[in-house]
Amino acid sequence: MSEQTNEGISKNKLKLLVEGKLPLDDIHALLRMPVKDADRFWKYLEVLQERVTWKEKILVRISEHLYVVEKGQERIVKCDCGHEFGDYRINWKLSSLVYARTSTEEFDEIFTTQNKPNPEIVEVREFYCPTCLAQLGVEAVPAGYPFLFEVLPDIDTLYEWEGKPLKSANKDWFQNKTATLTAKWAKEAGK
Ligand SMILES: [Zn+2]
Repeated sequence: MSEQTNEGISKNKLKLLVEGKLPLDDIHALLRMPVKDADRFWKYLEVLQERVTWKEKILVRISEHLYVVEKGQERIVKCDCGHEFGDYRINWKLSSLVYARTSTEEFDEIFTTQNKPNPEIVEVREFYCPTCLAQLGVEAVPAGYPFLFEVLPDIDTLYEWEGKPLKSANKDWFQNKTATLTAKWAKEAGK
């Protein structure tokens, strides 16, 4: 751990960690480090920001390809390719390309074990970015179940903990607004 100094984890090491290039031993050593590295969150954001080509400020990363970014007065979900999914409080899955596997044949393509779920009970959904076609998520849920909304980060609390509250902090941010979009669709469909 030559790079583990009194200043904590080096930015270079964080970069390797983010890119999945850090040897397992190093990852274990990092996990054992005392959490006294006040800077780590900001260094991590810097590393993330340097890896994307767009300018919007990354607030948090929510998955391998997706970030919540600040865009003007908005906080939106953005793919590393630049595709924008809109307000981060609305489940981005509703604006993605969805492939739902609902038959035995379709399950056979992904499950190699004998023990496959029953397609009459379970469906497997894959979510893709409409622009770069990266796979952004997979869920196996009861057939007909609403899309899971896995990550709705409480960004303002996080930034407060890290000691630098955002200027745009407001308690309205931390709420699930997915229903506003589905209600709009229902209205458009004349229901
Ligand atoms: Zn993309």
